[in-house]
Amino acid sequence: MFRSSSTHTDTYYAATSRELQTERPALTENLQADVCVVGAGFFGLYTALEMAQAGKRVVILEASRVGWGASGRNGGQMIIGFPCGMQRLKGVMGHERARNLFDQSLQAVRDIRGIMSQHQIDCDLVEGHLEVAVLPRRVADLTGWIEECQTEWGYDKLQFVDKATLPTYLNSERYQAGIIDPEGCHIHPLKYVLGLGRAVEAAGVRIFEQTKVEGYDEKPDGITVRVAGGMQVRCDQLVLAANAYIDQVDKRLAARTLPVGTFIGTTEVLGESVARSLIPKNHAVYDNQFILEYFRTTADHRLLFGGKCTYLGGTPVNLPQSMKANILRAFPQLKDVKMEHAWGGHIDITMRRMPDWGRRNDRVFWAQGFCGHGVVPTRVAATLVSEAMLGRPERLDWFGGIVNPPFPGGERLGGLMQAVGMGWYRVRDFV
Ligand SMILES: Cc1cc2nc3c(=O)[nH]c(=O)nc-3n(C[C@H](O)[C@H](O)[C@H](O)COP(=O)(O)OP(=O)(O)OC[C@H]3O[C@@H](n4cnc5c(N)ncnc54)[C@H](O)[C@@H]3O)c2cc1C
Repeated sequence: MFRSSSTHTDTYYAATSRELQTERPALTENLQADVCVVGAGFFGLYTALEMAQAGKRVVILEASRVGWGASGRNGGQMIIGFPCGMQRLKGVMGHERARNLFDQSLQAVRDIRGIMSQHQIDCDLVEGHLEVAVLPRRVADLTGWIEECQTEWGYDKLQFVDKATLPTYLNSERYQAGIIDPEGCHIHPLKYVLGLGRAVEAAGVRIFEQTKVEGYDEKPDGITVRVAGGMQVRCDQLVLAANAYIDQVDKRLAARTLPVGTFIGTTEVLGESVARSLIPKNHAVYDNQFILEYFRTTADHRLLFGGKCTYLGGTPVNLPQSMKANILRAFPQLKDVKMEHAWGGHIDITMRRMPDWGRRNDRVFWAQGFCGHGVVPTRVAATLVSEAMLGRPERLDWFGGIVNPPFPGGERLGGLMQAVGMGWYRVRDFV
């Protein structure tokens, strides 16, 4: 259950975005549209853009503000691939289709860069991504991924970095080795999603903020979307892009995902020389632990560090200090540094971390289950969903073979079971 908000969450991103003052009106009359999108995060905005470019009349209904959800407060790491890993996609749909999706994720990175340059979205883009191993035994996972990319996915740009060379990229004793991916990068996600909102409006889409959807009714001749306050939108096709907050819109979809809290903290400004002493080439970094941590420096030279998960709601006690404890494991040299921002957000996990993308007839479309890795996959999902909405459902239907079981006992019991299960994985991150 979430409460919509008239303001963005108090994050480093909100504190450093100039466009926050752009406010859109709430819906105050009944409307008719070809396409109605619920949620103005990456997935909803990209899909709206594609459909508007195909000549459709599109409206977006957003309960809070454009980019209020995960899209405006994430780690900003743009990473190719999918959260479940390529082998699991291959297992469900076969090699050729999985390869097509891998290529599509590379295309998605190019598309996103294209949107940034076409619409002049200044969002602190920095090239390069580094994946690192904390445990010596997980160095083999890094080399295995390089080999898999070469042999199965035709991608040969990954470069292994051994322990001796790692300080060229990352100044921390905690890590054993890494992989550089030159296609990966990092961005200021709120600046980007707000710019994307502008681009979507320039394509003719009407966005209504402070407009919470309470449900919808499907009839043979169309869909009626019900909005808090009594307004309605009648549309031919509906896109559900509410991510971890879907429970208030569609209970059937909500049963297959669990909203999990995850957190980020930023330090005070460190200055350029200290920032570069930590991550000399300013890559985005994440580790390959089960409960992973990710970090990078910001345009104004802070360390931005993410990690931790809560499965039962709530926020860790004294979040800034709690995030600092994680930072100090990686960078003990920052012991005297102050924390200036700390915040949380929700990710939408599925039981087996598989994507949950699909359609009901030619009327209702959705993509969820991004499991904390959605900056690039939301773009892939939007491409496949809009193809399907325009009469080419083949690639979206590949996901029909994925079974995402409901979490038994709903959010509370499901959260408890996940917390217990992840406790086991947490232990395996240490021993
Ligand atoms: C702390 C954090 C760090 C992350 N870091 C990374 C990262 O570094 N790299 C990466 O790839 N991924 C990351 N992710 C995941 C990524 O941000 C998400 O997968 C992605 O942004 C999901 O986009 P979305 O459009 O599906 O959902 P969202 O951006 O959450 O958008 C959903 C929108 O729907 C609206 N909404 C919900 N219910 C209703 C309703 N009833 N009526 C109207 N509107 C409604 C919400 O207000 C919200 O704006 C992170 C996520 C979090 C929370």
